[in-house]
Amino acid sequence: MDFTFSDEQVALHRRLRDFATRELADDVASREQAQEFWWDGWKRCAAEGVLGLPIPVEHGGSGHDPVTCAHALEGLGYGCRDNGLLMSAGAHLWAAAVPIWKFGSARQKQRLLPDLCAGRTIGAHAITEPGSGSDALSLRAQARRGSGGYLLNGRKRFVTNGPIADVLIVYATIDPGLGFTGVTAFLVDRDRPGLRIEPDRAKSGLRTAPWAELVLDDCEVPADMRLGAEKQGRAVFAATMAWERALLLAPLLGAMQRQIDECVRFAGQRRQFGRRIGGFQSVAHTIADLQVRLESARLLTYRAAAELAHSTDSVFSEMAKLQTSEAAVRTFLTAIDLHGGQGYTTEAGIERDLRDALGTRISSGTSALQREVIAGKLGLRSGGTGA
Ligand SMILES: Cc1cc2nc3c(=O)[nH]c(=O)nc-3n(C[C@H](O)[C@H](O)[C@H](O)COP(=O)(O)OP(=O)(O)OC[C@H]3O[C@@H](n4cnc5c(N)ncnc54)[C@H](O)[C@@H]3O)c2cc1C
Repeated sequence: MDFTFSDEQVALHRRLRDFATRELADDVASREQAQEFWWDGWKRCAAEGVLGLPIPVEHGGSGHDPVTCAHALEGLGYGCRDNGLLMSAGAHLWAAAVPIWKFGSARQKQRLLPDLCAGRTIGAHAITEPGSGSDALSLRAQARRGSGGYLLNGRKRFVTNGPIADVLIVYATIDPGLGFTGVTAFLVDRDRPGLRIEPDRAKSGLRTAPWAELVLDDCEVPADMRLGAEKQGRAVFAATMAWERALLLAPLLGAMQRQIDECVRFAGQRRQFGRRIGGFQSVAHTIADLQVRLESARLLTYRAAAELAHSTDSVFSEMAKLQTSEAAVRTFLTAIDLHGGQGYTTEAGIERDLRDALGTRISSGTSALQREVIAGKLGLRSGGTGA
C-alpha cells in the first residue's frame, strides 16, 4: 500500500501544523486546571476548516478523503497542546458529523451539516449508560412511539461535548425484548423538552473536553429526527466506531512526534557523567523504540483510514485505535522518565499528555474491547462493536 502523500496532502498537513503552532499552542495549563473548554480555540479551528474536513463540499465541508484527514490532523496535533480541544473536535467530526452525513436524510443533512462544519454548532454522541459501556448495545434507554414522534427515557453518561453540544446522537431501543436489534439512533437537539444535560464528574485527563450525563425523561423527539431506520442503530453505531477508532487519535500521532523530537533534543543537550545522555545506549535505544512504536501506530492509522474509503468492516480501525492509544501512554511515560525530575514537573506538561493519553485507552472502547473485536474479526470470538 502506497502512503506517499501528494503535494496537496503535504501542503494541508503543513498548513494545519503551522496554524496549530501559531494559534493553538498557548498555555493550556490554567484551562486544564479549571476544566474549561477553549471556545476561542474552537472558533480558530472552525475558521481553518478543521471542523468539516471529511464532509462533502455540498454540505459545507472540505470533502477530504480519510487518509488526507489523518495526515492533516496529525499536523494539527503536532502544534496544538490542548489534547482536550482536539478530542472535542474529533468527537464532533467522527461521532456526530460523519454519521449524519452517512445515515441522515437529505433534510437532516441540509439542516445540520453546514452549521456543524462551520463550528457554529457542536455535535456529540451518546450511547454509554450507567449499566452498559463495553457492551454498548445492551443499553436500557427506551424510545416509545408517541404522537408525531418518540418519547425517550433513560440515562447516558460520559458524553464528550455533552455540556456544549447543540445536537446529540442518542441511542435507545424501541423494544427491550429485541436485544441489540431494537437499538435505534436519534438526533436530539439540546433544547428538546424532557432532556436534561448535567456536567459529569471531573476526569483525570482530557479535562478541556467537557463531558456530561444526559437524563431523558419523556424527551420528545420528532419522527423526522430519527437517524436512519428503526432498528438500524447497530449499523449506525458500528460505522461510527469504524470512523472514530480510525481517526479520533490521529492528532495524538502528532503529539507523540512532538514529544519524541523533544526527547531527542533533550538527550542531545543534557549531560551526566561527563557526556550527553543521548550517548548512553539505553537512552538512545529507548528513544528509537518510541519512534518505531509511533511509526507502527501511524501506518495502522493510515491503513485504517484508507480502508474507510471502501468499507467500515475492516479490522484496521480497532488495530489503529489500540496501537495509537497504547503507544501514546508508553511515549509520554517514557518521556517523563527521560527528562528526569524535570519531566515530573507539571510545568513540563508531559504528565498532562500522559493523563490525556490514559483516557484514549478507554474512549471508543477499552483496549481489552479492541482486542475482543479484533479476535472476533479473526473468527476467534463472537466479537462485538463496543462503545
Ligand atoms: C475520555 C472518554 C470519553 C468518552 N466519550 C464518550 C462519548 O462521547 N460518548 C459515549 O457514549 N461514551 C463515551 N465514553 C465512554 C466509553 O465509551 C466507556 O467508558 C467505555 O466503552 C468503557 O465502558 P465502561 O466505562 O462502562 O467500562 P466497562 O465496560 O464496565 O469495563 C470495565 C472493565 O472491564 C473490561 N471488560 C469489559 N468487557 C470485557 C471483555 N469482553 N473482555 C475483557 N475485558 C472486558 C474493560 O476493558 C474494563 O477494563 C468516554 C469515555 C472516556 C474515558
